[in-house]
Formats: sequence, structure tokens, C-alpha cells
Amino acid sequence: QEPAYSFMVRVRIPGGRIDARQYLACDELARSVGNGTLRITTRQEFQLHGVLKQDLKATVRRINETLLDTLAACGDVERNILCCPAPIHDRVRARMQEDCAALAAHLSPRASSYWDIWLDGEKIDNPDAPKPGPALVPTPGDDAVEPIYGKTYMPRKFKTAFALPDDNCTDAYANDLGFLAVVEGGELVGYNVVVGGGMGTTPSARKTFPAVAVELCYVPRSEVLRIAEAVVKVQRDFGDRGDRKRARLKYVIFDWGIDAFRSKVEEYLGGPLTPPKDLPVTEVDDHLGWHEQGDGSWFLGIPVENGRIKDEGSLRLASGLRAYFERYGAPARLTCLQSILLADIPADRKDEVNAWLEEYGIASVERTSTVRRWAMACPALPTCGLAVTESERVLPSVLDRFEEAMAALGLEGERYSVHMTGCPNGCARPYNCDIGLVGRGASKNPDGSPGPGTYTIFLGGRIQGDRLNVLFKDYVPIDRIVDELIPVFSRFKAEREEGESFGDFCHRVGVEALAAEAAASSSA
Ligand code: SF4
Repeated sequence: QEPAYSFMVRVRIPGGRIDARQYLACDELARSVGNGTLRITTRQEFQLHGVLKQDLKATVRRINETLLDTLAACGDVERNILCCPAPIHDRVRARMQEDCAALAAHLSPRASSYWDIWLDGEKIDNPDAPKPGPALVPTPGDDAVEPIYGKTYMPRKFKTAFALPDDNCTDAYANDLGFLAVVEGGELVGYNVVVGGGMGTTPSARKTFPAVAVELCYVPRSEVLRIAEAVVKVQRDFGDRGDRKRARLKYVIFDWGIDAFRSKVEEYLGGPLTPPKDLPVTEVDDHLGWHEQGDGSWFLGIPVENGRIKDEGSLRLASGLRAYFERYGAPARLTCLQSILLADIPADRKDEVNAWLEEYGIASVERTSTVRRWAMACPALPTCGLAVTESERVLPSVLDRFEEAMAALGLEGERYSVHMTGCPNGCARPYNCDIGLVGRGASKNPDGSPGPGTYTIFLGGRIQGDRLNVLFKDYVPIDRIVDELIPVFSRFKAEREEGESFGDFCHRVGVEALAAEAAASSSA
């Protein structure tokens, strides 16, 4: 008899946009074929865990019937495309969501095998969704089955994000391809294009490293599909297919240099690129709490710890959200910080919704500590086969310790990002935040049973996500993480410059110097 194989199913949701029916279908699947929880990922998707092999086909069909899909949510292909999810009815965010949807359609695989395998050949079409057009940049391989991916698809996964320079909430610099909005006169006119971000690394292989993206060019809105397709095709043709560890776009750019890479993209496009505008990333917004949408309605951003929607004790988030969507039928958005934004709430219903939060014990942002609000973890053990340590299950207790320590130092209102992962693959983007905690090795409890593991601490990135952090200390047991950082926070409090963030302070002082100081004091 075959073992009971179980799977993770990831639902592709470009820009994180879902309606009530789609939410309720995913919630129902989580209870009927999953492990009873729904997880918002760091890429604005849902994951179902623990789906048995015999339930897979019906699960994928049900997802498609709601006009979502699982196509290219995994694999060596363009993944779910990110976009600022705030449902603000201005002329910028709405246009960005349109561009995100169009690009997601354009870079979708065209082969019919997905529908052949999962839906017996039936394609369930969303009449409102953008349709994939023909390939725009003719290059060798276009006459193959896939006009963009050719016969071989990509050397590895490929990730894309849309963001605003004053709201980089999708962490555009951590993606292979990023579009940063250029706004003139209140209108979205184009994008600065950045390339070559990626978090995964193998500590034992010096040839691998995390990277933040670098500037490539500026394009008007009308050129988004063309530039994306050209970058994808350069990576398709020149990404390393012999060494999977070095198969991401960042290594092509590192090996060639950005100027040679730009020349190759120009060759594929058949014309010169325009230099990027001078638009540095300045801010990031998690969009939590109540906000006016710009059309008379409101949206409410609810923090979801590590993206896990479940009922636990007095917090009945899964039941509460189910009741909300059943009662109001309103749409929602998923954020890259694993939270949910409830959209289109009439002003006169705000009190009713606040009462609903209370009824189900759902934490409002006002009752969430600053460190918890900006923290996130990957799933790791027990659901991820690559995990070497715990992550999602232990981060809450690590944050408890941060809260205590920050309160003792009078820094409880300080905003900094803590991202934890259970291995160096970096799914929760731990290499460009203020404090990265990366699973390093196994550990044992005092009774000899497997412990939560040891971690590498990285410091000196920042919440805006456009700078890598630096190794501070390796192989730190979980119960020592906050103790190791207290002296650094104390120095930050005493020596910070006006308005300086924790990450900027560590970067200015030098993480190597802070690490040397910590090593000296522990050996004294
Ligand atoms: Fe799994 Fe590692 Fe990704 Fe965490 S970072 S989900 S442990 S692959």
C-alpha cells in the first residue's frame, strides 16, 4: 500500500487581491483537505499544508473554480508577482495593480499541460483577468511550445515585484526583477527597473550569496511587458543550468557586471535603455489599522502572526474571518508582511467591524507591539523539508523576549524588522532587514530530544529593504538571541543620531566592530 504522501499547495494570487468567495473556498479547503490552517505567505499567496495525494486533484480544481489557480506558484518560472496591496483608490496604486495583473498573465506558461493534468483539459477562464498575449521580443526559441520560456523554462525560480519608492512594502530589492513607480503630477508614468535581488544562499558554498537588486533602467508604463520579457529571456538563455546553486539572475549580473548585463538586455530589446531616475527608496508602510480608501470607504489591516490563520485559545482568527467574509462579502488583500487588509468597508460599518474584532479576540494593530508588527518567519519545521531549525513556531517566544528587553531599555516604540528562517534559503527575507535570524544547525534539549536549533544573527540591513545586513554572530542558541543583542541596543540608545533607525545605526558603526565588541565582552 502506498504511504500517505502529503503536499503543500500554494495558491497564486497576483498582487494579493482576493474576493470573499475565493477566501471562503481556500478556508474551506484548509479545513476539509489541509491541516485546518491557512497561511499567508511572504509573497501574497495562500498556502495549504498537509494535503494528501488523493485530494490534490480535487483541491486544484476547486481553487481554479474560484478563478484563482496554482499555476507557476512553484517551479522554475515566473512566480506570483507582488504589488502594493493597499486598496487605495488613487491613480497610482490602481494602475500598478493593473500592470501587475497584465505582467502576471504575460509571463504565465502557455502550455496546456497544467489543465491537462489537473482539470482533465478543461480551462476555467476568468473573464475579467488580463489574457496572455504573444511574446513581444522575438528571439531564438520563440517558435518552441512556450513563446517566452522556450523548451527549457527558466534555470530556476524568477521573482518580480512592483513597489513605490516611498512605500517599498513588497520588498522589491529582494526580487530578481523590481519595478519602482515613477509618479509625475499624480500620475504613474513609468518605473525604475531594478534587477538581481535574491535571498537564497548556502553558507558552505562561497560562490553563493544573498543580493539586493541594482538599477537597470527607466521604462514608461507602456514598456513594462517588453522589458520584463527581455530580462526573463536573458536569464533563460544565460542563467547557469549546470549548477543549481548558482542558477538565479543575481549570479549572471555578478559574473558579467551590470553594464554587460544591460547591453545584453538592450540587444534582446533591439534598442537602448533609458537611465533610471534618481528615486531612492525612502519608506515602507505595512498598511495595518484603519485607512480611508479615497472613495468614501475604508480598509482595515489586521496583523496575522507569521501569516498563520487559525483558531487558538481566545484568538479565533479563522472563525472570525470566515464569519466576516460570509457576512459582508467584501474583498481583501494579502500583504508581503503576511497580513490581511479588509477592503471596501463603508464608514458607517466601522463600529460594527470593531465589535467583530472584539468578539473573535482578533488583535488590532493598536494592541500589537512594534517589534511583533514588523516581524515575520518562514514555516520551517515541521512542514518544510529543507528546514534545519524551527522558525514560525519559535518566533513568538523570541519576540516575547524582545518585548521585555525593549521595555526595560525604554525602546518599546522603536521600529525595526526581525525576520527569521529555518534555513539559509531565506524565504522570509532575512538578509536585508534590521535583524536577520537564520537557522544554522540542530540542537538538543537537556533531555537529549531535538531542540529548536542554533541561529546566525545578521545586523545592519533596514526596514526599507534596499541594503544587505552583515553577519554579527553565528551558532547562537535560541535562548541567547536577545541577550546577545541587548548590549547593541543599549549602545544604540546612547549613541544614535537624530532619527536614526537601529539598522542604520549598526550600519554606521559597523557590524564587524559590534561583533568584535561582543566577542571581547563574552571572553572577558
Ligand atoms: Fe523552508 Fe528554509 Fe524556506 Fe524556511 S527558509 S521555508 S526552512 S526553505
